[in-house]
Amino acid sequence: ATPISHNFIAKIIQDDLASGKVAKVVTRFPPEPNGYLHVGHAKSICLNFGVAEQFGGECNLRFDDTNPEKENQEYIDAIKDDVTWLGFNWAGDIHYASDYFDQLHEWALHLVREGKAYVCDLSPEEARQYRGTLTEAGKNSPYRERTVEENLDLFARMRAGEFDEGACVLRAKIDMASPNMNLRDPIIYRIRKAHHHQTGDKWCIYPTYDFTHGQSDAIEGITHSVCTLEFEDHKPLYDWFIENLPVPARPRQYEFGRLNLDYTVTSKRKLKALVDDGVVAGWDDPRMPTISGMRRRGFTPRSVRNFCDMIGVTRSDGMVDVAMLEHALRDDLNKNAPRAMAVINPLKVVIENLPENHCEMLSAPYHPELDLGSREMPFTREILIDQADFKEEYSKKFKKKFTPGNRIRLRCSYVLEATGYEKDDDGNVALVRANLIEDTLGKDPADEVKPKGVVHWVSASHSKMAELRIYERLFTSATPDKTEGDFMEHVNRDSLSVVQAYIEPALAAVAAESNFQFEREGYYVADRFDHTPDAPVFNLTIGLREDKSL
Ligand code: ATP
Ligand code: MG
Ligand code: MG
Repeated sequence: ATPISHNFIAKIIQDDLASGKVAKVVTRFPPEPNGYLHVGHAKSICLNFGVAEQFGGECNLRFDDTNPEKENQEYIDAIKDDVTWLGFNWAGDIHYASDYFDQLHEWALHLVREGKAYVCDLSPEEARQYRGTLTEAGKNSPYRERTVEENLDLFARMRAGEFDEGACVLRAKIDMASPNMNLRDPIIYRIRKAHHHQTGDKWCIYPTYDFTHGQSDAIEGITHSVCTLEFEDHKPLYDWFIENLPVPARPRQYEFGRLNLDYTVTSKRKLKALVDDGVVAGWDDPRMPTISGMRRRGFTPRSVRNFCDMIGVTRSDGMVDVAMLEHALRDDLNKNAPRAMAVINPLKVVIENLPENHCEMLSAPYHPELDLGSREMPFTREILIDQADFKEEYSKKFKKKFTPGNRIRLRCSYVLEATGYEKDDDGNVALVRANLIEDTLGKDPADEVKPKGVVHWVSASHSKMAELRIYERLFTSATPDKTEGDFMEHVNRDSLSVVQAYIEPALAAVAAESNFQFEREGYYVADRFDHTPDAPVFNLTIGLREDKSL
C-alpha cells in the first residue's frame, strides 16, 4: 500500500475535499516522451498517483507530446512500463496532449477572433530583442496590430503549410511590459514540418507547452495540476489561458521542489548524452538513475516508493544525499530478500573424513525471519570458501577465521576443523584440508568447542559459474552538474567490473529479476535480460551495510 502522505499538497487536497471545492480529486502525471523517466520523475509519480489513491480519486497518465522531433514510441512504451512497475494504475486510457490538437487549434482561433492572438513575423533573433529583459520592458511587435481577418487568414495559411518553419508564429496578445517574461506575448503555435508519432502528418503547426498544458488539464477535469517549481513563473500564463478560453473546467496549478540527488544527474538531456556517447550500455544500464536502470540494478518498486516517502514533498528544491536512496534500498532488501551463497574468490577445502563421492542435500532456509521457503544445497567432500576466510596462522584478530586447529561453521551446514593446507608455486594457499565434526548440523559440537566464525560456501563439484557485474557510482563528483567543466568530465569510467563466481546450483534456475542477499557479499539481482539457467548473470545491487564487518 502507498504510504499515507501528510505533505502540503495532500493537505491542500484534503482541505479542498473538506470544503466541497472539489468533489473528487483528479491528478495527472504528464511526461514528455523524449527520454526515459528518472528517479526525479519517480517522485512526481509517487506524489500524483499517491495523493489520488490516498483520497479516493484518479490519476491520468498523459503524454505531453508537443515536440514531435524529440519524441518517439520507444519512450512512450518505456514510460508506461515504468509507471506500471512502480505499482501504479492510471485511470482509463492513456491520454496524449495530441488527442486535443483539434480542440487546441479551435481555442487558438477563438483567441484570434477575440483579438487576443496574432501572427507575428519577427525572426527568433528579432523577437528576442523585442522581448526586453528582466529589468527592461519589451516593445510591441510591429505585427501586433494586425486585424482579426488578416490573422485568421495568416493562421489558416500557417496551418496549410504555406510558410517555412520559423517564418512566423502565433502569439497571445497579453502585455509586453509585464514584469513576468512569460506574459510578454508568448508563442502559442509554431510551424514544425515534422511527422508526429501520434498524429502522423496531419499537422505542420504545433501548440507550445504553455498553450497545451492547462487546457489539457481542463479537458481532463484535472483538479490539482502538480508540477515542479520551475513552472511557478508560468502560473499567471496558465491562469490567463484558462480565464480567456471557454474551457470546461478550472484546474489549478501547484508547485513542489524537484528532486536533486548528489552523485547523480537528473536531466533527460544529460542522460541521453550518456547513452548516445556510449558511456553506458543504454537507458536501462544498471548505473543509470532512470527507473528502468534502477529496476535492472535490483531496486524493488517498494524501495523506490519508500524513498519517495522518506524525502517528502516541500516547496523548495534541495539536494538529497544519495545515501538516503541507498538506505531505502538496503533496508527493503535486508527485510525481504532471500539469502543465498556465492563464492567470488574461491579456495578449495577438502573434507578428508568424508567419502570421495559424498553428496548430502541440505535444506537451507531462504530467510532468517520470513517464511520464504528453502532450497537444497548439495554438501560434498570438496567445497569452496572465500580466500579471505582462511588464514595460515591463528591469532586473536583471526579468531573468526578458518585456521589450522581452529573451527568454523559452514552456513546452514556443519562445523569443520582445519588440519592443514597446501600452497601453490606463488606461495598462495591453494587448498585446505579439514575434518567434519560429526553431528553438528544445527547443533554445537559435543565437545563444547564452539566455532566463532560462520562462512559461506558452495560445493566444488555441484556449484555453477555465474557472471557478476559489479557496479560503482557513475560519477566521481557529488555535483557533476555544477562542478567546473562539463558533467561528462566527472564520469567514473571504471564503474563496471565483471567477475566470475561460483554459485549454489539453485541460483542458476531463478527467474530474471530475483533479488538476493549473497551472504556476506552483498545484494544481487538476476539480470532482467541476460540471466539464463545456462549462463547465470547477477548484478550487484548494493553492498551490505558498511559498518557490518564481513
Ligand atoms: P527533464 O528536465 O529531465 O527533461 P522534465 O521536467 O522536462 O525533466 P517531463 O517529462 O516534462 O520532464 O516531466 C514530467 C513530470 O515530472 C513533470 O511534472 C515534472 O515536473 C516532473 N519532474 C521532472 N523532473 C523531476 C524531478 N527531478 N523531481 C521531481 N519531479 C520531476
Ligand atoms: Mg517538461
Ligand atoms: Mg524536459
